[in-house]
Amino acid sequence: MTETIFSKIINREIPADIVYEDDLALAFRDVDPQAPVHILVIPKQAIPRLADAKQEHQELLGHLLLVVAKIADQEGYGDAFRLVINNGEKVGQTVFHLHVHILAGRSFGWPPG
Ligand code: AMP
Repeated sequence: MTETIFSKIINREIPADIVYEDDLALAFRDVDPQAPVHILVIPKQAIPRLADAKQEHQELLGHLLLVVAKIADQEGYGDAFRLVINNGEKVGQTVFHLHVHILAGRSFGWPPG
């Protein structure tokens, strides 16, 4: 599996503004925030895209969503946040290490752009 910028963050080879960490997951502020709160939640295990996740990852994926809710609450937006997972280059995925964007602190249109 190719190393990405996110595995470098996990390994502390490059700095990041880390807001949460446990054995399975890491969360840090996006370097180019698209909302007042913009945090990325990633598994420590490198799964390139959600579409690459397997049955064996079921518990890990559930864990990521529980971590998301915890962080949103921690940030003061437990009742108003949006999640984005870009899956594939065609929809804007640029880092091929699965990540959930947590966005909060402004209004969001629907349908999303
Ligand atoms: P995506 O387009 O869904 O693959 O999202 C990748 C996200 O990673 C973008 O929102 C980038 O701003 C963010 N990003 C890239 N490099 C870093 C970094 N070193 N630290 C924090 N966020 C980053």
